[in-house]
Amino acid sequence: MQHGNEFSTLKVAIVGAGPAGFYAAEALAALCPGCEVDLIERLPTPYGLIRSGVAPDHQTTKSIQQTFEQTASRSNLRFVGNVELDRDLKLEELADVYDAVVLACGAPHDMKLDIRGATLKGVYGASEFVGWYNAHPDHANLDPDLSARGAVIIGNGNVALDIARILTRPVRELASTDIAEHAIQCIAGSKLTDVHVVGRRGPLDAKFTSVELQELGHLQDVVAVASSDQMPEGVDDGVPPRERRAKVKNLECFRAFAEADPASASRRIQFQFNARPYNVLGTDRVEAVRFERTRVENGSVIGTGQLFRIPCGLIVTAIGYRARPVGELALSETKDRLRNDDGRIKPGLYVVGWLKRGPSGKIGTNRADGEQIAERIRVEVSPAGKPGFAALQQALRSRGLRWTDFTDWKAIERAEIEAAAEGAPRRKFPSIDRMLQICAAKSPAVASL
Ligand code: NAP
Repeated sequence: MQHGNEFSTLKVAIVGAGPAGFYAAEALAALCPGCEVDLIERLPTPYGLIRSGVAPDHQTTKSIQQTFEQTASRSNLRFVGNVELDRDLKLEELADVYDAVVLACGAPHDMKLDIRGATLKGVYGASEFVGWYNAHPDHANLDPDLSARGAVIIGNGNVALDIARILTRPVRELASTDIAEHAIQCIAGSKLTDVHVVGRRGPLDAKFTSVELQELGHLQDVVAVASSDQMPEGVDDGVPPRERRAKVKNLECFRAFAEADPASASRRIQFQFNARPYNVLGTDRVEAVRFERTRVENGSVIGTGQLFRIPCGLIVTAIGYRARPVGELALSETKDRLRNDDGRIKPGLYVVGWLKRGPSGKIGTNRADGEQIAERIRVEVSPAGKPGFAALQQALRSRGLRWTDFTDWKAIERAEIEAAAEGAPRRKFPSIDRMLQICAAKSPAVASL
């Protein structure tokens, strides 16, 4: 395949303006100078999980947004927000007018807990719960009831830890974050004293990263508690060194939690291991969850038949995510990604991020995906004189759709910063209508498109 100046007209659409989309855009811009990249996003705002997934008390993690902003300021990159694939546009339409399409739309749905009672009121998936406290427009109306003393979080990954922290941190600390206004008001009236984080395997199998776990030992007026009975002697010698170091650190942490005095703080985060959800109890809404004790044999979780229950008024399942299907494209058997061959779905169609590899890794993990796909596109795709944005714009206008560009986003951002309480970085607007009103006020001519 020939390269050189022909890249000046390579037109690429990336669908999804979260970390995976931005890293792919940056890598394309670096590898194929002169190409035109359009980042299409269903929300009026960019940054995906940086805004709606990363916990509000982890503002340092969110600072990657500044790097993405530099990417967005490139003259050959365009943000096209408030445009949703399969609602406003078909994938085939994009493929017709762009040389390559990269799907970066993540895995936004919760894996369902398939047990009796799991549909009772008061049981939420992490995606909706995290979206609620992060002001995601899809989940702004969740309105969870925090009037009981107990809450249960099912799953032993970092998302479970985020939720446990947000539910227990003193409100005065949350006030200096960009947590949703509705969430801080709800949490301010919370009666929760005990948040149980329950894993179906043992402490050494937990997927928590040690920095996130250690953080729980330093929260104000919150004590993390574990049971010494559930602690293993140590880590097996056969475990590879890197993994072993991580497990040893986590074990040290859990041992410290096992020595903590549960009465030393107003709120507790209690770890329970080797317990798998059995059924949810309640009449109109959740009142308790029953677990079955487990043991792990050759990597499999085996039920022992021994049951116990934890009273609670709230359950959040943090047990992984499912992909949103795209057109007729096939999902993997696990339903958490699209079937793909190392990022390629078919000629001219690529996938990155969670939609490529499933919901795993940190934000920076997406950088390698982006670089790899940009290289594949450089090698495999030649510009074919396609119209790119000129045709997209025409299609959107003909449907009366109002898309947002990066200056619209900056107007929304300015309004969010102005609306913030003292000491908070911003107050996110959970309403798309409100965001579009801000854009319309900024540029009435564009708004009437
Ligand atoms: P995760 O790390 O894959 O953890 C999912 C947990 O759910 C596992 O403990 C899993 O247990 C459990 N689980 C799955 N199905 C279950 C079932 N039916 N019943 C009971 N338990 C079940 O997923 P995550 O916490 O959603 O995190 C997703 C990714 O985002 C991870 O890579 C994570 O590190 C990352 N993340 C990072 C941060 C951070 O760095 N601060 C914050 C949030 C998320 P098994 O192990 O037995 O399958």
